Amino acid sequence: MSNQIYLPRQVDAAILGGGCAGMSLAYRLLLGGYRGSVVVLERAVDFDREQRWCFWGPIDKDITPFVSKTWSKFLVAGGSLEFVRPAGAKYYQVSAPSFLNAIREKLSTANNFYLRMGVTVHKTTRDPANHVWNIGTDCGDVAAKLVFDARNLRGFTGSSDSAAPWLHQSFAGLTITTSKDVFDTDAVTLMDFRVPDGNEGAFIYVLPYSQNSALIESTLISVDREETDEHLTRVNWYIETKVKSSVTVHSTETGIIPMTTTKFPFSTTPGRYYIGILGGAAKPSTGYAFTRIQRHTKRIAAEMIKFGRPLSYRPSSTDQRREWIDDVFLTASAINKKFFTQTVLRMVDRLPPDLLIRFLSENDSLADDVKVMSVVGNRELADAAATLSGRRPQTGSVGD
Ligand SMILES: Cc1cc2nc3c(=O)[nH]c(=O)nc-3n(C[C@H](O)[C@H](O)[C@H](O)COP(=O)(O)OP(=O)(O)OC[C@H]3O[C@@H](n4cnc5c(N)ncnc54)[C@H](O)[C@@H]3O)c2cc1C
Repeated sequence: MSNQIYLPRQVDAAILGGGCAGMSLAYRLLLGGYRGSVVVLERAVDFDREQRWCFWGPIDKDITPFVSKTWSKFLVAGGSLEFVRPAGAKYYQVSAPSFLNAIREKLSTANNFYLRMGVTVHKTTRDPANHVWNIGTDCGDVAAKLVFDARNLRGFTGSSDSAAPWLHQSFAGLTITTSKDVFDTDAVTLMDFRVPDGNEGAFIYVLPYSQNSALIESTLISVDREETDEHLTRVNWYIETKVKSSVTVHSTETGIIPMTTTKFPFSTTPGRYYIGILGGAAKPSTGYAFTRIQRHTKRIAAEMIKFGRPLSYRPSSTDQRREWIDDVFLTASAINKKFFTQTVLRMVDRLPPDLLIRFLSENDSLADDVKVMSVVGNRELADAAATLSGRRPQTGSVGD
């Protein structure tokens, strides 16, 4: 039975899922002056989830107002090595609740945007006679000419039998305050492998907010996912052995991001498009998705405003080169559990910090990539190349 939320009966565009990608697209359409009607259907009843998105600059000017913290140095450590590097570009943080609530407020001032929270989408069916999509929800139906599906991992397949490498970045962390001043507020700990299993892709990530408050997160890059309990055990171990202060825990953040070069098509049926993680936005070798989501939604919004619909997208030669490198990294990481840790440490040791940041933020040139690949061992390159050459192209699929 439907509850009391009013849904428009027919719209030009329906966005399924009001998370990072769905709300970014709505924001970009609003900013660009899109005149069609847009509904965003989000199953959560509020935007208070514990999440933040971090990314390397340069930053898109439309995102600048949402930045809540920046860092100018980064630390990577493992074994007896510890590197603290100045970053040419800053590391930025956007808090998810602030970002989503700010966009919510902006949308509420426009009479052609409808954000509906507490609405779960169950079904989407195409009505070819009328060229519309019927969207079934627990609050009734909406017809839309175009559908943007941004519901994240729902219905993903492809992990076990995919020919492309498929790893997971699983993580869980605590936001804490410490009784002593222990953090350098300008240095983000990107990867501290000095933890049990640190030589097999496990590391600690620390975002310090002040000298006595931080997010401390455990991450594992692996074919197998790690459970939240195991991550929190690692976080507590780190607090006891490295932070060495009594702490008060305020909240927990958990997540899992696919790391794969499996292709997730932008569109498979006329009028329906996948965006965000569901559209393959996570960079395969790092799991970072925020910057890609911003670039992608900005482009879609511009095309919607100009042509009334998004255009299909062909990867450039630069995209293809980056994807090949991602493929080599993931294939080598899947074959050899120690590859990820060893290669990251070698990269930070041997490459200039600015080059690393260009690589991480996808601003890398061909010359940068040649230097990055020179750090990867010949044996791993040969193994990955042999695996890649025996592989057929593979496409992921999404279902309702
Ligand atoms: C905890 C965490 C931290 C991350 N940190 C970073 C980071 O620092 N930097 C970075 O670049 N990337 C980061 N990522 C990766 C990526 O940027 C995020 O996952 C991002 O939120 C993906 O955006 P999205 O819109 O695809 O999915 P989401 O933001 O997850 O949005 C999906 C939305 O769909 C809604 N939904 C799902 N099913 C339905 C349904 N049936 N009906 C209606 N609504 C539905 C959900 O409630 C959700 O709001 C992080 C991911 C996680 C999980």
